[in-house]
Amino acid sequence: MTKRPDPLAAYNAKRDFSRTSEPAGDPGAPGGNRFIVQKHDATRLHWDLRLESDGVLKSWAVTKGPSPDPDIKRLAVRTEDHPLSYAAFEGTIPDDEYGGGTVMIWDRGTWAPVEGKSADDLADGHLHFILSGERMKGEWLLVRMKPRKGERRENWLLRKTRMHESARAGCDPLSSALPHQRVDRAFQVMAEPPCEIWCRKEIRWR
Ligand code: MN
Repeated sequence: MTKRPDPLAAYNAKRDFSRTSEPAGDPGAPGGNRFIVQKHDATRLHWDLRLESDGVLKSWAVTKGPSPDPDIKRLAVRTEDHPLSYAAFEGTIPDDEYGGGTVMIWDRGTWAPVEGKSADDLADGHLHFILSGERMKGEWLLVRMKPRKGERRENWLLRKTRMHESARAGCDPLSSALPHQRVDRAFQVMAEPPCEIWCRKEIRWR
């Protein structure tokens, strides 16, 4: 019988576990549906979106952070699958190690494909899914951009399908500036103050 390739081989190869406090990885049991976003203040600040699927955390580095505004697509660079134990990781990775910098949990909860869709769609370069987190809720889309010749990484785009339930345009993890002055029906039903949940600096996890 041929052994299934280890989905965490790339994860383990990139890290020296005698130096980093990140967990070493073995694939876990399939069937879970956690999602997590880790704010990672590395060489470049980014937000790591991870969706549990097939016993690992499928991962994307969202360079500017997820936006609750459906008009704003965010570059999400596919990164190596992470072990399920990474979902609880917070801490500081030594500067000279892979991903050196601090990691903080920014959001967490569960995810599901929208009705009629499946996590298998990822292999075809797209996923339409629902998040139930503290900040990120409702329907989201991940779509792989057309690969360019010689490309060494997969570039995907992440966007909200419609205005976020708990935020509005101008709410952005990079900025807590006042929201845009755009007025339309979607905004009128938003409760004040704007950005309350989305832009909150910290969430006390239960
Ligand atoms: Mn990262």
